[in-house]
Amino acid sequence: MTSGSVTVKAVIFDWGGTLTPWHDIDLVSQWEEYSRVYNPDDATLAQRLADAELAQWREQQATRGANGTGTLDHIWAAAGVDTDSPQHPAAVHAYLRGWDPHTVADPDAVDTLARLSADGLGIGVLSNTMWPSEHHEAVFARDELLDYIDVAVYSSELPVAKPHLAAFETVLDGLGVSAAEAVFVGDRPWDDVHGAQQVGMRAILIPHSRLGDQAVDVHVQPDAIAHRLSDVVDIVRSWR
Ligand SMILES: [Mg+2]
Repeated sequence: MTSGSVTVKAVIFDWGGTLTPWHDIDLVSQWEEYSRVYNPDDATLAQRLADAELAQWREQQATRGANGTGTLDHIWAAAGVDTDSPQHPAAVHAYLRGWDPHTVADPDAVDTLARLSADGLGIGVLSNTMWPSEHHEAVFARDELLDYIDVAVYSSELPVAKPHLAAFETVLDGLGVSAAEAVFVGDRPWDDVHGAQQVGMRAILIPHSRLGDQAVDVHVQPDAIAHRLSDVVDIVRSWR
């Protein structure tokens, strides 16, 4: 476990299920938003895209993040999509719009980041995601979080993903803090809590996500549990 004597200088958040509340998602339905614009006559396209995405998530788990998560480009290639098609850009737009109801920030998020920032803490984000950073930044800007985030690292732009230690080191380096000076907040015991603790960070678990078959069988002991996002402020203050 980490040293209690080192002052906390930064708090790094996971995104899905942490800064946004957990939603149960049917990947095929999400990809139907893409397929009905790209080619409504291809009856199996949404399923192929969902299968390709799921395969990438399984690879991330099986390799403990060593091969990253891949990107949307990998999904399109695996499903036989021609990204030079004139329908592709509009289909991408429809796909990402279809996620909008599921990306809305936790009602506590703005206040939580504002208070941590006012306490003089650096704010980071480390997300396992296949989406481009521009889309995440647009979502954060929409929900008035972007200005509070000092460094955001997305696995879509890394060769690795959580729980690989290099993913955590990338965001720590960006913030200019050591692992012992940083706290990680996440909803996944394996990717987030285990990953952060193995690097030497303290880890706060937000325990409300219904991970189901996405859960990895691992025993971890978070340094604290936040039953709502705003609890993070007082937990971090208690460590300073
Ligand atoms: Mg998460």
